Amino acid sequence: MENGKYLEETKKPFTPLLAIEEAARCLLCHDAPCSKACPAGTDPAKFIRSLRFRNLKGAVETIRTNNPLGAVCSRVCPYDKYCEGACSRCGIDKPIRIGELQRYLTDYEQSINMKVLEKVELDKEKVAVIGAGPSGLTAAAALALKGYKVTVFEEKDVLGGWLSYGIPPQRLPQEVVENEIDYIKELGVEFKTGCKVGKDLSIDSLRAEGYKAFLVACGMQKGKLVDIKGSDLEGVVNGVDFLAQAKTTKGDVKVGNHVIVIGGGDVAMDCASTAKLLGAEDVKIVYRRTIEKMPASSEEKEYVSSLNIPIFTGFKPAEITGKDGKVTALKAEGMFDASKMELGADMVIFAVGQEAENVDGIADLKSTDVFTSGDIVEDDKTVVQAVASGKLAAEKIEAFLTGKAGLDEAASAKEGVR
Ligand SMILES: Cc1cc2nc3c(=O)[nH]c(=O)nc-3n(C[C@H](O)[C@H](O)[C@H](O)COP(=O)(O)OP(=O)(O)OC[C@H]3O[C@@H](n4cnc5c(N)ncnc54)[C@H](O)[C@@H]3O)c2cc1C
Ligand code: SF4
Repeated sequence: MENGKYLEETKKPFTPLLAIEEAARCLLCHDAPCSKACPAGTDPAKFIRSLRFRNLKGAVETIRTNNPLGAVCSRVCPYDKYCEGACSRCGIDKPIRIGELQRYLTDYEQSINMKVLEKVELDKEKVAVIGAGPSGLTAAAALALKGYKVTVFEEKDVLGGWLSYGIPPQRLPQEVVENEIDYIKELGVEFKTGCKVGKDLSIDSLRAEGYKAFLVACGMQKGKLVDIKGSDLEGVVNGVDFLAQAKTTKGDVKVGNHVIVIGGGDVAMDCASTAKLLGAEDVKIVYRRTIEKMPASSEEKEYVSSLNIPIFTGFKPAEITGKDGKVTALKAEGMFDASKMELGADMVIFAVGQEAENVDGIADLKSTDVFTSGDIVEDDKTVVQAVASGKLAAEKIEAFLTGKAGLDEAASAKEGVR
């Protein structure tokens, strides 16, 4: 098994010289479209300007004060959709590689153990955050920095949500996630793992313990399956379960030799690359629409193609056939014509999206002390959007606890943070 390749971060970091040269390409735009396009307000225009003038400390301060998951975002943001897509240099040659500069700076911060954020006295109300994904983590950090006593309740044993259970290590090493979570712990945020709110304990019991506000940031945990004949055969798996098993065991997961991944988003690309890096002989992706309509980022599509993984577009799965209870092939039919194909396989991975579990079972979302953030309320289901949503939720919670939110505001806060 080639776990080495699976565990190794694919993208190489910038050298100091490359970083300075790249920052020097910045046009220092007055209206900084890149900063406006970052949902989390990480302010790339400001940190690039600092870097350009060799002020690395100032650059790190900008990132860290605006985004507690700056190192994670630098690796996983779909930059072309956000900051880099808005860069003025797109109209001249190519955008500034903002994500990579952000990574360079956060790596630098880590290498010299620089600490920008400092713990403050926690003398304000108790707040409970449900879910330790990027949104819950960001809100927890922001509230702790304002002096609130925050406890994050997490169902799983490992913190981080999809950062730890989904995005594979070749794109996001677990160490990077852990470093940022450790930083948040140093701010005084407490964590309780293995604790499912709505099952192991209730919001009412937390109220009785003195918690004054609740943030439900539980994400979309359930992977969807396509209900076709043969989907119960051995060897048919759910994409997010496969990725979670691979990441938490550092790649010690059973992978077929002939793998078919169904889906066209980032999760599908991650399943395909993970299967290949973990030793599958051949991996194929089957997607029902056209390549242009595939929701995966262009970088992800390029990456799977660099691993020689073909993508069959315009086909939907019709049936999975098997022998002795095990998968042997996928039958697919054309979306745009009457074509049919049959691909041999010993593993079929469904990566066709996730859905929320019963959020109402966690809390009464209509209560004025209950707030929501992250994937469960955002249309754009990305890490940086979850960070933005967590920041805004923290503001709403503070406004609620300090009595600054009017009744209308408190009501709108319940509907999410948009
Ligand atoms: C495989 C994969 C790859 C992805 N790749 C990218 C990418 O490259 N770039 C990008 O920007 N986005 C990516 N995403 C999307 C991104 O990870 C999510 O948008 C983001 O994690 C959402 O954050 P969140 O905090 O809302 O929820 P989550 O990350 O889902 O975290 C929610 C947490 O809440 C916990 N929880 C749920 N219910 C309860 C409960 N009742 N009690 C206690 N805890 C509970 C869960 O266990 C989980 O830890 C990817 C997602 C997946 C699955
Ligand atoms: S957080 Fe993401 S979107 Fe924002 S500036 Fe950094 S890389 Fe770009």
